[in-house]
Amino acid sequence: MSSINIERIENDLYELSKFGFNEKDKGIYRQGLTEIDMEARQWMMQKFKDAGLTTHMDGAGNVCGRLGDPDKPAILIGSHLDSVPAGGMFDGTLGVVAGLECIRVIQENNIDVNCPIEIIGTSEEEGRFGGMLGAQALSGNLTLEWLESARDPKGEYLKDALEKCGLNVHDTLRARRDPSSMKAFLELHIEQGPVLENSNKCIGVVDGISGVFKWLVKLKGKADHAGTAPMDMRSDAFMGLADFAHEISRIIDEEGTDKSRITIGRVDLKPGYAHTIPGEAHFTIVGRDMQEDVMHQLANSCRKVLSSIARKHKLYFEYEQMSWLEPKHFSPEVVDLIEEEVKALDYSYMKMPSGAGHDIQFFTDLTPTGLIFIPSVGGVSHAPDEWSHWDDVEKGTQVLLNTLLRLAQ
Ligand SMILES: [Zn+2]
Repeated sequence: MSSINIERIENDLYELSKFGFNEKDKGIYRQGLTEIDMEARQWMMQKFKDAGLTTHMDGAGNVCGRLGDPDKPAILIGSHLDSVPAGGMFDGTLGVVAGLECIRVIQENNIDVNCPIEIIGTSEEEGRFGGMLGAQALSGNLTLEWLESARDPKGEYLKDALEKCGLNVHDTLRARRDPSSMKAFLELHIEQGPVLENSNKCIGVVDGISGVFKWLVKLKGKADHAGTAPMDMRSDAFMGLADFAHEISRIIDEEGTDKSRITIGRVDLKPGYAHTIPGEAHFTIVGRDMQEDVMHQLANSCRKVLSSIARKHKLYFEYEQMSWLEPKHFSPEVVDLIEEEVKALDYSYMKMPSGAGHDIQFFTDLTPTGLIFIPSVGGVSHAPDEWSHWDDVEKGTQVLLNTLLRLAQ
């Protein structure tokens, strides 16, 4: 068996972490389509070149390094190079650096592969402009209308940010890859949650990405003086919200699965004064599951429970569905292949869904896909103290390599 070299991966990840590193909070500030993000991309391309790969940056800012025939269908290994503000050094970068290491091992050992392999460092995955720009561009999930209207929270237009980086919306659309040019898509990523660590497993064989719906709910009652309105004569919107919060676990018990999640992440009480009964409660509900029919059941149940609570508290209830993203399932044959390779290496593992979105989700309908997780220490991610043990990084990369070789031989 050809073994990967963990020291090279460590070096690459530390080098990359310097791009956007903030001395004060020790976080990495490398948001998509910024100057420092482009510097990191140039560095990565040089690394691809050093490994003898054919490199280019596409119109969306994705950096690509390819081994083998430029025209034959390739196995793609991709993840992102941008970070959230005050992010960590493993999120995204791990998948790109590990892909490059797989190529080095293949070359050093003169391993025969029967198809091209391409490593892609995708651009703007963290959603500065509200999407996953690089992966959406590659998979053809972009429209000119969106590209021209998208803005970041500070109001900067995506099209202007592209121009500053020497890119533009039309070349971004041209970055689309035809499905016939892909043989498979693989991604290695940190879990960004506590499940693997708490279960004492070092590899997550991911079978899909949860579907997610987001609601904006309004409960409307009557704002009254908190001293003069008797308790039984109130229409207190917060009481309705509190009752609903208590029903969440029952809704999941009755309608959901062990993969179901319902979260109230944001609450806004109006008028919001300590001495006034809240006349309105505005809040978000985010629901998740791996099966779309279960998502529908959860959503229906939320609606019924909210109407009955509204009646009880003399409230008016309305909601708006802000988004509905269906679950994505990875190819069973690739998931099985990863599982076989993990077993052959005798690593501890579990099959699991991903609760977070990743670049790979845009490829599930285009080509065979597989996602591999390694543990995040303490479940921490998107924070300066995001960490994964080098031992797990080594194992994850070895699984990636072995899976890649099975697909390419
Ligand atoms: Zn990520």
